[in-house]
Amino acid sequence: MRALAVLFLVRLGSLNALAQTRRQPFWSRWLGADLPSADTLGRVATQIEVGDLRAVQRQAYARLKRGKALPAPAHGLIAGVLDGHESHATFRRHCPGCLTRTIHTTAEDRTQYYHRHVSLQLVGADWTLLLDAEPQRPGEDEVAAALRLLERGLAAYPRAFDVLVADGLYADPRVFNYVWERGKDVLAVLKDNHPALLEDARSLFATLRPTNGRHRTRTCQWWDLTGFTTWPQVAAPIRIVRSVERWSVQRQRDGQLEEQHSEWFWVTTLAPPRAPTAAVVQLGHSRWAIENAGFNELVTRWHADHVYRHEPTALLVFTLLAMLCLNVFLMFYRRDLKPAARQAASRLHMARLVTAELYNARPAASPRAPP
Ligand SMILES: [Zn+2]
Repeated sequence: MRALAVLFLVRLGSLNALAQTRRQPFWSRWLGADLPSADTLGRVATQIEVGDLRAVQRQAYARLKRGKALPAPAHGLIAGVLDGHESHATFRRHCPGCLTRTIHTTAEDRTQYYHRHVSLQLVGADWTLLLDAEPQRPGEDEVAAALRLLERGLAAYPRAFDVLVADGLYADPRVFNYVWERGKDVLAVLKDNHPALLEDARSLFATLRPTNGRHRTRTCQWWDLTGFTTWPQVAAPIRIVRSVERWSVQRQRDGQLEEQHSEWFWVTTLAPPRAPTAAVVQLGHSRWAIENAGFNELVTRWHADHVYRHEPTALLVFTLLAMLCLNVFLMFYRRDLKPAARQAASRLHMARLVTAELYNARPAASPRAPP
C-alpha cells in the first residue's frame, strides 16, 4: 500500500512509470525493500482490504480534528458534500462491477461499460477533506449508492458535518428523509426534476420583494420561504431559497467588463434561525468545492481516472488511495508550509518537489521553506 500511495503523491499516472523508478534509492528508504513489479502492484491492489484504507482515512480525520485543523465557516455549519463521479468508459474491456449503457450511433447501437462512484467530502472554513467513496453497482441508481455511503459515513464520522449538500439529483425523498431522520440537515439544488415544487416557489416568490445580499464578489437578490407542502414524500419542513447573482468579468479579447448572471434555487431542511439566507447561499455554492478541490483536482492533476487495473476492488482501492493522498497533500500544503512559502510555490510546484525526491539519488532536501 505504501508503494501505491507514492504512485499518486508523485502523480506518475501508470504502474509502469512507477516500476521504472525501481532502482531509485528512495525505495529502500521508504519501503525497506525493493519496489515490486507493475504486475505485482496491480495484483496487490485487487487484494487490499478497502476497510483498512478507510480506517487510515478515519485516523487522518481524527488527528486533524484533535489538532483543531477543521474549523467551521463563519456561519458555523460544516458541509458534507455528496457527488457522483464517472471514472472511465470503454467499449472493450469490462468487469463484474461495470455499469452499462447503450450508445446510439448512425451505424449501430453499442454497449458502453463504465464505472461511477459517489464521494463524500467535507467543506469547512478554508479547507476540504475527502472522506469516502462508494461505487454504484450494476442495476442500482446513484442515490442507492449514496445511501450506502451515507450509512457508513454517518457511522464513521457522526459529527463531522452538519448539513449534507448535493446537486439536483439528490433532491430525492430517499436522501432527504434518511438524513433528516438522523438529525442532520440537507440542502440540494432544485431543478426541473421537481416541476411542481419549482413552479410553486416561482409563483410565491413573484409576489415577494427580494432582499439584497452579497456572495463573494457577486451582488445578489434573494428570496427565501419556509413551509412548502408541494413535496409530501418528505417528512421535514421544506424551505426554498432563490438567488439571482450578478457580477462582471474582464473580457480577455478587449479588456472590457462583461456582465454575468446566474440564478439558483436550493431546497433545504435548514431552519432560518440555524442558517440565514446568506448561509444557505454559501452552503449551496460549497457544492462546487468538490469540483475545484475534489475530484477535478484528482483527475486533472493526480491521474485518478487512469485505469491502473480494471477490476472492481482495484478501482475502489485506487480511488480511496488517491483521495487519501490528496488529503495529506492539501493539509501539508495548508498547515505545514509557512504562508510565505505558499505564496512562492503553487501546489503543482510543491508536487513536483515531491516527485523530485523520488528521482533524487542523494538524500533529498526537505521541501519546507527555510524559516
Ligand atoms: Zn469494470
